[in-house]
Amino acid sequence: MLQLDSHPSGRHYLQIPGPSPVPDRILRAISLPTIDHRGPEFGLLGLKVLAGMRTLFKTRHPVIIYPASGTGAWEAALANTLSPGDQVLMFETGHFASLWAKMAARLHLSTEVLAGRGDDEQLPAAPNWRQGVQAELIEKRLRQDTERKIKAVCVVHNETSTGVTSDIAAVRAAMDAAGHPALLMVDTISGLACADYQHDAWGVDVAISGSQKGLMLPPGISFNALSPRALDAMKTATLPRSFWAWDDIVEANKAGYWPYTPSTNLLYGLSESLDMIFSEGLERVFARHDRWAAGVRSAVTAWGLPIQCADPRLYSPVLTGVITPAGVDADALRRMIFERFDLSLGVGLGKVKGRMFRIGHLGDSNDLTLLATLAGCEMGLKLMGVKLAGSGVHAAMDYFSTHHAQSSLQKVA
Ligand code: PLP
Repeated sequence: MLQLDSHPSGRHYLQIPGPSPVPDRILRAISLPTIDHRGPEFGLLGLKVLAGMRTLFKTRHPVIIYPASGTGAWEAALANTLSPGDQVLMFETGHFASLWAKMAARLHLSTEVLAGRGDDEQLPAAPNWRQGVQAELIEKRLRQDTERKIKAVCVVHNETSTGVTSDIAAVRAAMDAAGHPALLMVDTISGLACADYQHDAWGVDVAISGSQKGLMLPPGISFNALSPRALDAMKTATLPRSFWAWDDIVEANKAGYWPYTPSTNLLYGLSESLDMIFSEGLERVFARHDRWAAGVRSAVTAWGLPIQCADPRLYSPVLTGVITPAGVDADALRRMIFERFDLSLGVGLGKVKGRMFRIGHLGDSNDLTLLATLAGCEMGLKLMGVKLAGSGVHAAMDYFSTHHAQSSLQKVA
């Protein structure tokens, strides 16, 4: 029986890479009374959150906010800019990149998926799910496209299924080097507000993000950040769209409103989230995530287990994928850790099901929360009979105590 309000004592440890824990401050903001979404106060709220999202995406151009999960914003990006039969070039970095490609095919786009080659001893079923986007392969493919049939290149910034953060500036440079006019679309659903993202500077045409990761909100709203080229493409794109259509939304947003009923209370939460992020400072937010990620990786290394991301330049600040030893079912491990220690870890998705688990270290967290999380993992691994090389908890304690946070904690007088 479903018992949402009946949990063991203490806080549940929600350490999946999104939805991430929602801070009390945001929950309180969301609990305020719903107001008239056509009234004067709402317009001020709308203008504030739209401006805040532009700052977060680092763009001067419109940002769209949908009452939908990230998947809706994926569809919106494609439906607003492309026409049936258009070729799109995707790069398989993991499960989410694959799902986006599947969606493009369902929308009657002609989808081509590039993937890195090579073998991998640890993850033979998904060797390329340990790497990021290889910009040189994109450049090579675009150079071959002399008829300019490819209309969009779609890549995932932070691949939540693997813990690899791709270099988007390198993808833009590859497209420029090939002199190809395709649009660049970037899924930064789990990257935004954890890893640096620079919409205008990186020349991204459509970015997609969601509420339930770095923004620390419940799931339910998602975003498209646009470019002038994306808005131009919209004028000739013929994929059917109605709910997702940018034109009506951009028009209504000018005064802070939406053409339909927006998620009023989630927008209260977004307003609070933006206040929290900007008062801390974006650079500090990124540094905080980088430091947590390094501490967690020090634990995984001390255990002697492989980190899924095989390229240290691309370690994710959002999550760490941990490959379990052959014969150790990562799903059984996760289940046991949940039942024994009330800790939720991310599941291995798609091709890596049962072969890895994911530790989320994003949003509303701190050193001690992560140490408890690592303790839960370490106890679970031992209970599953995994021979660990050493104590990850000790390694992370050493890391956190010797690497000072730029924290906003107060000194006790
Ligand atoms: N893309 C990435 C990188 C994700 O992490 C997710 C969800 O975790 C999605 C797309 C799908 O978003 P949603 O589940 O909000 O529809």
